[in-house]
Amino acid sequence: MKAKDLQFFEEILNERKVQLQKNIASCAEEQAGAQKDDLKDEGDLASASGGAVISDAIMTQQKKELEEIEYAFKKIKDGSYGTCEMCEDPIGMPRLKAKPFARYCIVCREIVEKENKAKGK
Ligand SMILES: [Zn+2]
Repeated sequence: MKAKDLQFFEEILNERKVQLQKNIASCAEEQAGAQKDDLKDEGDLASASGGAVISDAIMTQQKKELEEIEYAFKKIKDGSYGTCEMCEDPIGMPRLKAKPFARYCIVCREIVEKENKAKGK
């Protein structure tokens, strides 16, 4: 991949990383706030814990994405960014633009997804 393209994706990943870190921080704040202030009676308890379950799921998902982004940064550094981890073909610019932390090309991604489904993941 060209240095200019790498830089382009590094910037996108960086912006996304900052956004995710903000989201995770505000989620954590909300959860802390909900635990402190909103547990006055049983009704509040139910709605507060319901909200916490939702933001837990969002937070887990966002933390996972953050990990993927950190992993993509590592790949930028070691020069393997933009290369499919299965077939070692270039992943392709349109796919990387849609998902800058993609590890596999479209063909291999489908294979991986099918395998994960077969394993019941
Ligand atoms: Zn591939």
